[in-house]
Amino acid sequence: MISCEFTTETHSLSISCIFTNFFSLIAKKYCYFCEQMKDSFKHKGMRNQLAQIVADKGITDEKVLDGIRNIPRHLFMDSSFEAHAYQDKAFPIAADQTISQPYTVAFQTQLLEIKSGDTILEIGTGSGYQTAMLLELGAKVYSIERQKELFKRTSLFLPKLGYRPKKLIFGDGYKGLPEQAPFDGIVVTAGAPFVPKPLLGQLKIGGKLVIPVGEKAQIMTLFIRTSEKEFTKKEFGEFRFVPMLEDKN
Ligand code: SAH
Repeated sequence: MISCEFTTETHSLSISCIFTNFFSLIAKKYCYFCEQMKDSFKHKGMRNQLAQIVADKGITDEKVLDGIRNIPRHLFMDSSFEAHAYQDKAFPIAADQTISQPYTVAFQTQLLEIKSGDTILEIGTGSGYQTAMLLELGAKVYSIERQKELFKRTSLFLPKLGYRPKKLIFGDGYKGLPEQAPFDGIVVTAGAPFVPKPLLGQLKIGGKLVIPVGEKAQIMTLFIRTSEKEFTKKEFGEFRFVPMLEDKN
């Protein structure tokens, strides 16, 4: 008696079982990548629940909620954390960094009020989850990451899921990206001890900078450029991010 892996039934070793096992083994061997990149109905169900949790916390932008429903967050994390991927929590990723909490990603994105075709700069690519959210909203996305390991990983990973930012840059986000400025929006996904002047200067008139400002905890802050030299500022409560560090690594 032998257990047939494919049917999970226990029965005598039949020719069809041998064939089924043989082909499934070959498929597994040569489709290791597919195994790693699985997105099931169960995952989709969990994403719908997560979108509901985020909506219950006050996110009203349906396009942002659709982003949460569409992006396979479990694939952005180490597979050992997969069971937690659809909790509304931040989790560790490579290089001692974190994938932001879905509510935080949704909150920052909602503040940007993105229209399809807007040019958005992200500081802190990290896992690429926020990048994917910006792309889901139809933005042209530039994103800067200071950690080489994360930059390389995420540059390879996003296209595998069909997410194609305009450019991922290995560099220091404090300087922004003057060669592609001005931007409709800039989102900083690390805690900034102060507001970097170059980022304000790289906004279009009417453009928005969403930045968590502070050392231990941060105040989510929105700047809107109202003229060449004037900005309005609005604050939105406390959040916690990994620190925005100077220079690249
Ligand atoms: N947007 C990410 C959040 C990652 S955490 C996500 O959705 O997963 C913040 C990221 O900002 C880290 O990857 C960190 O390395 C990066 N970071 C910190 N300081 C930076 C800087 N000065 N320039 C660019 N990236 C920076």
